[in-house]
Amino acid sequence: MTVYLDYSASAPVHPLVLEEMIWVYREAYGNAGSRTHVFGQRAAEIVSRWRKEIADFLDVDSNEVFFTSGATESNNLVLLGLQDYGKRTGRTHIISTALEHKSILEPLAFLASQGFDIELIKSDKTGLIKAGDISTRLRDDTLLVSIHHANNETGVIQPIGEIGRLLRDTDVFFHVDAAQTFGKLPLSIVQFNIDFLTASAHKMGGPQGVGLLGIRRKSLRMPPIKPIMYGGGQEHGLRPGTLPVPLVAGFGKAVSLARQGLSTWKEVMLQKKEEVLTQLEAVPHHVNGSLEDSMPNMINVSFPGVNSEALMLMTKDKYAISNGSACTSKDYKPSHVLLAMGLPEELLYSAVRISWGRDEETIDLRALIEAVENLGGQE
Ligand code: PMP
Repeated sequence: MTVYLDYSASAPVHPLVLEEMIWVYREAYGNAGSRTHVFGQRAAEIVSRWRKEIADFLDVDSNEVFFTSGATESNNLVLLGLQDYGKRTGRTHIISTALEHKSILEPLAFLASQGFDIELIKSDKTGLIKAGDISTRLRDDTLLVSIHHANNETGVIQPIGEIGRLLRDTDVFFHVDAAQTFGKLPLSIVQFNIDFLTASAHKMGGPQGVGLLGIRRKSLRMPPIKPIMYGGGQEHGLRPGTLPVPLVAGFGKAVSLARQGLSTWKEVMLQKKEEVLTQLEAVPHHVNGSLEDSMPNMINVSFPGVNSEALMLMTKDKYAISNGSACTSKDYKPSHVLLAMGLPEELLYSAVRISWGRDEETIDLRALIEAVENLGGQE
């Protein structure tokens, strides 16, 4: 049997989430926008109930939660949705990092083609961005700072609280891509002074195909963000399209389960991380990114002298792991995240990401270690 160790790519749907969704598919199949009959009303009530659950978790009002198809869409919506305001006001400077997910980097590249000045900060080998890296770059025309909470390849957690505090007395918008941390680490929009927060259901036991953009209304006013699609006016006109009621219910249920498990999640995951680290001691390896400041449910590790593609191929039947890089049969590129951290070539080409959840009793890496030995891992 293949052991699933790729939770950071997508986590299994929690059985209670699935149950909730099946119930909605069966019993509440109306369109939440249909006001003329009971089926529509029932669907709208379900959306409203779960929207409130999620808003409470984020400590915001229900009208500050905007459902999308996932983190990719939420990230695009923030970055492209602020384009018009930036151009109109002459604020076209955006600060982000070279370690972001492609759903940040690609819209930013598009904005650069439209005349925006995009600064992408790199990190050192720890993978950490310092608040000082941001403060020294702030300008009068800075529109937005966009930083991920935890990195999807290394799990390194950025100092979001400190960056939020730094931006508190400015009019610079603060966007946090929390796709990897939502439902796992405590994160308060208000406390961290966040204007826009991205989250996705499928990283935390919810279904694929739904996510959210949390938008903070300061003094009850929406920030000047525009839709990137036009249609039926759903989600206050910001994200039109029929709401996927079963997915919203599944997302809400996953959040309520995450809330119940939040106090023990870190401890349980850290125990598994210890297990993983202890087993890895059997072979020469190098943990990429700061171990202290990283998510307890994943690790990015290089085995010097071992090609990660060969390792994954050799252990394909035993483990589902990834190397987090864009890879096609013709063209193999090392991870842009590890590159931006300045890792040497031998670590770049030998890196794999292992990520886990609550489901595994123990994580047995014996076959992986054997494969590293067979492939000639070296000090
Ligand atoms: N941002 C980060 C940090 C992610 O980890 C991911 C998923 N790998 C995304 C954005 C995109 O998420 P989604 O699959 O929900 O579009």
